[in-house]
Amino acid sequence: MSIGLYIHVPFCIKKCLYCDFISYPLSGRAVKSYLASLVGEINLYGSALADEDKIITSIFFGGGTPTTLPAGSFKIVLDAVRSSFVLTAGCEVTVEANPGAIDGAGLAGLRQAGVNRLSIGVQSFHDRLLHVLGRVHSAEQAVQAVQLARKAGFDNLNLDFIFGIPGQTNHDWRETLHQAVEMAPEHIAAYGLQLEEGTPLAQAVERGEICACPEETEITMYRDTIAFLTAHGYSHYEISNFAGPGRQCAHNLLYWLNRPYLGLGPAAHSLIKGVRFANDISLAGYSAKLSREEYPVENKIRLSAADEMSETMFLGLRLTGGVDLDRFYRRFGRRAEDIYRHEIEGLSKKGLLEMSAGHLRLTAKGLPLANIVFREFV
Ligand code: SF4
Repeated sequence: MSIGLYIHVPFCIKKCLYCDFISYPLSGRAVKSYLASLVGEINLYGSALADEDKIITSIFFGGGTPTTLPAGSFKIVLDAVRSSFVLTAGCEVTVEANPGAIDGAGLAGLRQAGVNRLSIGVQSFHDRLLHVLGRVHSAEQAVQAVQLARKAGFDNLNLDFIFGIPGQTNHDWRETLHQAVEMAPEHIAAYGLQLEEGTPLAQAVERGEICACPEETEITMYRDTIAFLTAHGYSHYEISNFAGPGRQCAHNLLYWLNRPYLGLGPAAHSLIKGVRFANDISLAGYSAKLSREEYPVENKIRLSAADEMSETMFLGLRLTGGVDLDRFYRRFGRRAEDIYRHEIEGLSKKGLLEMSAGHLRLTAKGLPLANIVFREFV
């Protein structure tokens, strides 16, 4: 069984105002303990898994802010991965990078360690909107980050953007899209801002200090994104993701195709052989368990066949190509069209789903309303 490897790096320079990911303030001591524990976790799985379960097709360092790690860390971690697992030829190795935590030497270090894809969190080319989000970098730093990445030899770049930011106009968003395309990244991800409960930004909106972006504006921005990026040669292959030819993100495709992955680091999630498990979210708890050579796992559930089928549907529908119905049948021995007949008929009547050439997919009308569709399959 081949798997993807996700490595969570739980440090950020400063918490962004919209973020509810697990991340902790950066400190030399915490980073040292984290790195030692992470290598321990890699070794633990390396000695426990059967050879056929250690074939890695993609590695993704996410966070947090992976590029806050000291130079040399990626080499240590990737060397440990190479000693314990088998990387397939051309294995995609992505690192998420924050323009406020990136420099030429660090990028050269990433290349030397074997990182071949960089995902830069630009979010916006307008400083006032970056300020609303509480990002630590300016638009100019984002431009420089892309230039530095090219100089370091990265030929596979993703740029992440957010639309629907309070105070953002359609004009602002179009300007950001234009500038993004001018930089010619191989991949672009554009997400509508989620106001996550409890985050400072959501609280400011609740208190009426900031106005949330109206839903109609956000839908217009989303439709503009699809029209603009596809007109500029990017294929729209997932709700929020656009790729140049042959540049789809192999790692994220694993998730959308509901294939196995192993998550390492605090708070990382895994899905292996129908079992979903999550690591301890605290740095201390994670490191303590590994110091005793125990798995740092906090909770574990075996998915039922119904769970797996449901996840295969709502994850697969994220792809614009949709759910491959024959593949579903080969995997589960049952037809999605029979199991979800009622849901498929109802959503098709509303014009949100369509079936063609053996695939069930969201329609153009269904794409911005994807969450309503997914709920029917949960
Ligand atoms: S850099 Fe990313 S992970 Fe860190 S606080 Fe900001 S959004 Fe969250």
